[in-house]
Amino acid sequence: MTLTEQELRTLDYEPDPGGHFGDYGGRYVSETLMAALNELDHSYQKLKNDPDFQREFDADLASFVGRPSPLYHADRWSKVIGGAQIYFKREDLNHTGAHKVNNTIGQALLAKYSGKPRVIAETGAGQHGVASATVAARLGLECVVYMGADDIERQSPNVYRMKLLGAEVVSVESGSRTLKDALSEAMRDWVTNVDNTFYIIGTVAGPAPYPQLVRDFNAVVGREVKWQSREIFGKYPDALVACVGGGSNAIGLFYPFLRDVEVAVYGVEAAGRGLSTNEHAAPLCSGRPGVLHGAKTYLMDNSDGQIAHTHSVSAGLDYPGVGPEHSYLKDIGRANYVGATDEEALAAFHEVSQVEGIIPALETAHALAYTKTLAASMRPDQTIVCNMSGRGDKDIFTVAKMEGISLT
Ligand SMILES: *Cc1c(COP(=O)(O)O)cnc(C)c1O
Repeated sequence: MTLTEQELRTLDYEPDPGGHFGDYGGRYVSETLMAALNELDHSYQKLKNDPDFQREFDADLASFVGRPSPLYHADRWSKVIGGAQIYFKREDLNHTGAHKVNNTIGQALLAKYSGKPRVIAETGAGQHGVASATVAARLGLECVVYMGADDIERQSPNVYRMKLLGAEVVSVESGSRTLKDALSEAMRDWVTNVDNTFYIIGTVAGPAPYPQLVRDFNAVVGREVKWQSREIFGKYPDALVACVGGGSNAIGLFYPFLRDVEVAVYGVEAAGRGLSTNEHAAPLCSGRPGVLHGAKTYLMDNSDGQIAHTHSVSAGLDYPGVGPEHSYLKDIGRANYVGATDEEALAAFHEVSQVEGIIPALETAHALAYTKTLAASMRPDQTIVCNMSGRGDKDIFTVAKMEGISLT
């Protein structure tokens, strides 16, 4: 399974025409969805080389999102740790506060160029719903967001944000009243309304071509790091680190560097209460291959083959599957996948807030926790780029509550 260094250096890292990354990915969906996915694949393969489309995408990334995001030297934190120089790729400074908008802008433009006036999305914690509602407003598209009834109760500020942005939020009362039920409803909507509707998926998971197109829209992150690292420290980083929920911020950073095999790559999953407990969300560290949400990939299941219950302190990492390209990169040995626990993430959350003046998202705090361990094992003339996938404003209530502090 593991490839040689020479093979890793020359691989093209593109899916085959069926959307497979090695054994993973593909389209494990019903006949009715197959037609919609084929149509999407066709328009994407055409539009990704269309100069008008690319120009509009780049212009929105610059003037609406605020790209390029800075590459910031976490000088004080590097000194405190006493190992490698740590740099943060500041996706937290993007409009809406995370990397997700890179992808939703791309998909909303695909909707526009494919003549679809209506977009739908599903959301758990609400971050992807807000990012979708934002770009729909920007482009004048109708937007419907499916959300589990329980999640609506838990995430009322994001529900209100989506409404302020003009989106309709549909409460899903069936099943466990959470993300997976919202996902089923969104799928049903898409099949019924495919003629006028574009389905915006929030990470590099799902059936082909979604893992490829979401990766391509986020790859601006890694492309910027390539020129920024040369400009700032005169070479590529020795290592890249990013948290992995579905895996979109991670693949966005990693993808442009995959053939540069001297750059080590680390994806950090949510180890929750520990990888030896069942209370985590780390399919690459401790799951096995299977089929989830239309693609073959590593996932977490129990002994009956049912998708397992997951746990993480961060909603954005609390997912039993992972994008299929990560499964492939793990098997061929190009990327390493490790875990950070809730406790380690919280410690990094506080330390980076106090030492660098940046409050990170709890998802990002997992990447920071591993960055600390890795930096300590490296020399001061070496460099790590850690993807600061989002800002922590949304998480201060969770952190306060865990520490027994009431904010309202
Ligand atoms: C949603 C989210 C994630 C997890 O999603 P990926 O697809 O794995 O990137 C990570 N960080 C932040 C800040 C998020 O909002």
